[in-house]
Amino acid sequence: MLNEKELKKQYEIYKNENINLDMSRGKPCTEQLNLSLPMLNIKDYESVSCDTRNYGVLDGIDEIKTLFSDILNIPNEKMIIGGNSTLNMIYDVVTRFYIWGDENCKPWGKLQKVKILCPVPGYDRHFDIMEKFGFEMIQVPFKQNDLDMDTIENLCKNDDSIKGIICVPLYSNPTGYCYSDETVLRLAKMKTCKDFKIFWDNAYAIHHIYEKVNLYDIFKACEKYNTEDRILYFFSTSKINFAGSGVSMLAGSKNTINYMKKHLSKQTIGYDKINQLRTAKFLKDKQNTLDFMQKHADILKPKFDIVLDALENNFKDSDILSWDIPKGGYFVSVYTKNNKAKKVVELCKNVGLILTMAGSTYPNKLDKEDKNIRIAPSFATQTELKKAMDIFCLCVKLANC
Ligand code: PLP
Repeated sequence: MLNEKELKKQYEIYKNENINLDMSRGKPCTEQLNLSLPMLNIKDYESVSCDTRNYGVLDGIDEIKTLFSDILNIPNEKMIIGGNSTLNMIYDVVTRFYIWGDENCKPWGKLQKVKILCPVPGYDRHFDIMEKFGFEMIQVPFKQNDLDMDTIENLCKNDDSIKGIICVPLYSNPTGYCYSDETVLRLAKMKTCKDFKIFWDNAYAIHHIYEKVNLYDIFKACEKYNTEDRILYFFSTSKINFAGSGVSMLAGSKNTINYMKKHLSKQTIGYDKINQLRTAKFLKDKQNTLDFMQKHADILKPKFDIVLDALENNFKDSDILSWDIPKGGYFVSVYTKNNKAKKVVELCKNVGLILTMAGSTYPNKLDKEDKNIRIAPSFATQTELKKAMDIFCLCVKLANC
């Protein structure tokens, strides 16, 4: 390992190189986006149920529902197909509960306090939504790479102001953790307030890279305990086809879907059905979609390898950095020892490497131990990524000098 003087010398060399690298957001790279280019040649507009060019069909056309149903094992009638963004859907759903409340329950905005459970580290944009509504976000650190269900159950059974949990059950952002069958069943079974909601953001449902992990069916779990109304299941094709021009989905119980449709009908006549049909025709069915996702994995795997190899080569025998090894998804989550995350991110920024802001993987940007940094390997080229990881590893070492 280089000594401090040598590390500083190398850092100065990078400083003079005018580097401009960005590993801050989980964006697909150009090569991934190009995989979906043939989709733009699909000009069909006749759905089995309608002319997609016209108004109508509030909750989405049959073709896309059938495709999502095939992929996710959720019946068509439990889905609403939305626009290009699940985040938008989550925001709308929270707004509805905030203003109007769940059937027969007081609107969340009229309550003294609303608390949301936030497994940490987690997805910054989830926390931003909850922060916007003024909810108290309770940090629940993961335990053995899974939800800490003992803590969650204890919190929920004693506190009716806890209205929900927002989570990414498969290849979590940023840890890559996948929830066990037992966790899903306990979430379905646990005692909660009447209008408790599980914001189940399954954004990485089929985004396997190293290994395919199966997620227990939350609908099956909740049916067993008669708690289906707590499910708010989100999914989109943002990281399958074109991020920003995908198709989103909200699934829930019959009650939930009726409630959402009642509100949605005042917001829109219907979403972009031309894109829904184009997406359904392009992806065809589950097997074809999984084969297509393998092409994404083939592009992403070497990039994840570069990140994980660099961490292993530099910090295998060191106690200044640890990390999670994801099986899929979009991120690698690292943990600096000795409250060094901010310092590392700052050092990287000063030589032109942009990382996700330290702290942003925690509610209110409050990583008390200042330890977590999210690495997003997808967007950069392999050459850029190698350089970025050289810089990152150097900065971790420098921060600990
Ligand atoms: N949910 C999670 C967990 C994500 O990581 C992301 C994007 O990074 C999104 C949602 C964004 O999804 P959408 O494009 O459907 O709004």
